[in-house]
Amino acid sequence: MSGRQAVLRIPDVKPELKELEIPREAVVSGDHPVILAMADGLASMGISVTLVHPFGEIEEIVAPLRGLMEADDEVSRKYAFLTEKVSNNKSIKVMGLSTLVAVEGWWGNFTAEILQDGKLATVKAPGLALAYRGNPKVPEAFSTDDVKGFSEFLGQFDFRKGGMKKVPNPVKRIAFVLDVEKRDEKWPSVTALRFGTYLKEFGSQVYILCRDFKVSVDDMEREYRMAREAGVMIFKYEDLPTIQKGGQGIRLTFRDASAVSREKPLEVTLEDLDAVVVQENILPAEEQVELLAQLRIPSEGGFVGPNNPQFTGRTAKKGVVVGGDTWYPEYPTDAMTTALSASQELFKWVGKGTYKIDVERVAEVDPSKCATCLTCYRICPHDSIRVERYGERNVYITAGAKEGPTWEAARVKVETCNGCGLCASECPAKAIQLVYYPDMEVYDFLEGNLR
Ligand code: SF4
Ligand code: SF4
Repeated sequence: MSGRQAVLRIPDVKPELKELEIPREAVVSGDHPVILAMADGLASMGISVTLVHPFGEIEEIVAPLRGLMEADDEVSRKYAFLTEKVSNNKSIKVMGLSTLVAVEGWWGNFTAEILQDGKLATVKAPGLALAYRGNPKVPEAFSTDDVKGFSEFLGQFDFRKGGMKKVPNPVKRIAFVLDVEKRDEKWPSVTALRFGTYLKEFGSQVYILCRDFKVSVDDMEREYRMAREAGVMIFKYEDLPTIQKGGQGIRLTFRDASAVSREKPLEVTLEDLDAVVVQENILPAEEQVELLAQLRIPSEGGFVGPNNPQFTGRTAKKGVVVGGDTWYPEYPTDAMTTALSASQELFKWVGKGTYKIDVERVAEVDPSKCATCLTCYRICPHDSIRVERYGERNVYITAGAKEGPTWEAARVKVETCNGCGLCASECPAKAIQLVYYPDMEVYDFLEGNLR
């Protein structure tokens, strides 16, 4: 068998399609103002929405934006319009003073547990859109009165569009420090670059200090070039910069290893800074941690969805999308655009009313071999594995049944399995096979090619 044939082998398998009915419904929940955009976006595509929020009145959802709404006409206009539209939309059922506390089931068939006025209600939710506000925390290494986190600083200056117009030159010399505790987040690079370029229009001197500048975001290479052309200076530091109070402002000292060579790093001192802004950790509220863990949305040490700003609010769990700070912190009008993309993403799952799944291209567990080690459960990117009680091979014992063997073993949910094969390759007990490409065929192929 040649390598070419092996590549062609998988598409040759005839799919066995099963049609599932998916109600055109979704639950939108959270305390971030973009839940309005998500609810409106889904409703305008014909989805019945249950909007779950913790406030007394729908107008209070935009309360965190009030200062900015006064400063920026665009934010004000867009969010006021959305509030009114959602209030008057009959296909959006609004549940105020409510919190989503748990989610059971899987895509197409979620059950949302909602706490309202101390009482627990359950709502069927084929799809979920979530957007929470995060709590920013400046890393301890930079925790002084002279240093601000991105959210606080940008909030104070009403980000880059609003209040800035009224303050001609609010900062003369500013340094953004990225990657203090986390190196893999892209949103601080995006924010520093865009805000830095904007500040250059006011004649400010702008420095960005980072370990790695992340430009693998839509349009970022172009923005990076524009920022450099505008005069934003970017340094790469190795050890954390030190910060001191200087004569005219704040002094930052660090070693830039990229400017000359790693062996001879350049000692750099930035004097007389008006502001030092560091990348803070964005943490979820305590009461959201459990829900996020259930849904496999990362929250430890940060609150940034899949940490990939170019994707559209999709999470590792099919049928769940996120926006707001659960995705990553953005200017409110940008966050609105992201939230709308997330709604469109969710529409792909719940919008057609039916969905075809291929039950042939999935993984299957042999329960007699499974050691219940949970490796597959942990690595499945689609959250498609559960541990259940079995009767015999692939016969599952329903709740309450007394007869038959009752050992526990992993079970693959065919409704959500994407047939990626990760679980089959990682299972230490060799208990998982891909139905359409069993191990024996893989061995035959390898033997044939290694001869
Ligand atoms: S990885 Fe294998 S042995 Fe471990 S739980 Fe999954 S199927 Fe069972
Ligand atoms: S084949 Fe992929 S999607 Fe399916 S259960 Fe295994 S790891 Fe999950």
